Amino acid sequence: MLSEFDLIKRYFKRDRQGRATLGIGDDCALLTPAPNRQLAISTDMLVEDRHFFAGADPVMLGHKALAVNLSDLAAMGARPVAFTLSLALPQADPAWLEGFSQGLFALADAHECELIGGDTTKGPLNICITVFGELAPGHALRRSAARPGDDIWISGTLGDARLALAGYWKEVELFPSLQAQAASRLHMPTPRVALGLALAAAPCAHAALDISDGLIGDLGHILAASSVGATLDVDALPAGPVLARQGRDLRRRFTTAGGDDYELCFTVPEGQRDAVLAAAVQAATPVTRVGTIEAAPGLRLVDAHGAPLDLGLTGWDHFSGT
Ligand code: ADP
Ligand code: MG
Repeated sequence: MLSEFDLIKRYFKRDRQGRATLGIGDDCALLTPAPNRQLAISTDMLVEDRHFFAGADPVMLGHKALAVNLSDLAAMGARPVAFTLSLALPQADPAWLEGFSQGLFALADAHECELIGGDTTKGPLNICITVFGELAPGHALRRSAARPGDDIWISGTLGDARLALAGYWKEVELFPSLQAQAASRLHMPTPRVALGLALAAAPCAHAALDISDGLIGDLGHILAASSVGATLDVDALPAGPVLARQGRDLRRRFTTAGGDDYELCFTVPEGQRDAVLAAAVQAATPVTRVGTIEAAPGLRLVDAHGAPLDLGLTGWDHFSGT
């Protein structure tokens, strides 16, 4: 049986020198922020049977645990710098640890984000990551910054992760190849870090957040924090490639209120559309304009003809479980 220290040394401590002044091994890590940069900090926890199935592929878990955290940095327009990893493990299983650290470090290295510390304990499988990013003061994309007249934009596509869950839960029946394609969206989300950086650097975006609990619920956070309302063109929402093959009702439900999308939703003044498209090209990330921020409170859903739609939906809420 591996000791806690052997486990950390074997799977999580690496020789290469990163950005941190002091990494794993002491009581604290030391980070030296670049001159005139703010730190952006976010934490996300993944709990077995809540956020992932028991027996989930450890490589994908390693990826997803960091991806959902990088997604928060992206939504703020921050550049990833470092992260900590707190792990509760039922046992020290070398095959699991090997896979988990492989998925974790593949994504960490792609974003030059260094593991600088953490905690390891025995217990029901629970993965908690805290990320540290940096940005220029005043450039953070805050939820409270949407203004009437802003366009609402979405990166990438929505709904395939939710469709994969629907397949697992037998709400829909998908060909195995399509189920696998949708499932890759669920298990291996792509944090939109390059787009967040480009939008913040332009600077063109007012407000932004990442869509983790379904677009409608998450957009609601922007509306509440900014004291504004919006009209959302539901039929303009970009459905994931697997969802795009499904019927209209399912497309509407899963693009508006799916969950686990990890795309960015952001608002930009109408006069800055060219700047958004330039940022999208620079980040090699597709973007779609899907609505408008308005002074009148509330969220109005409309179809392709501008007619009101009532889908009777809200985003995912972990405590009400709806
Ligand atoms: P302490 O008892 O001072 O909290 P620990 O014994 O928990 O220290 O950890 C020893 C070192 O290993 C610390 O630098 C800590 O940050 C690091 N560490 C512990 N668990 C992990 C982990 N899962 N991933 C990365 N670093 C870890
Ligand atoms: Mg400790």
